[in-house]
Amino acid sequence: MDKASLFVQVANMEERLGELYMELGSLKEKILQLIEENQRLQQENSRLLQQLQEDEPMGDSQSHHNLLRIYEEGFHVCHVNYGSLRTDGECLFCLSFLGKH
Ligand SMILES: [Zn+2]
Repeated sequence: MDKASLFVQVANMEERLGELYMELGSLKEKILQLIEENQRLQQENSRLLQQLQEDEPMGDSQSHHNLLRIYEEGFHVCHVNYGSLRTDGECLFCLSFLGKH
């Protein structure tokens, strides 16, 4: 067994691990930034949806149409998760809320 070559292999591996560790750190930072950005956008979205409903005096059917459109675009319109992105497909709260109008 060539001890020198083994040592070189270990040293190379150590270097690669160091690089991976740094890459991992920068990925972690990017994920945190994305999470913060996502939260900010959800709040903004929720605020805009609320504003849309408050600003425009709408008839019941117009308001129902808007909520349906928002739901179809992939957002919750139910009180439980209002304004956040629907990530699990259909939402029973939303559907029952939309069905009531
Ligand atoms: Zn919902």
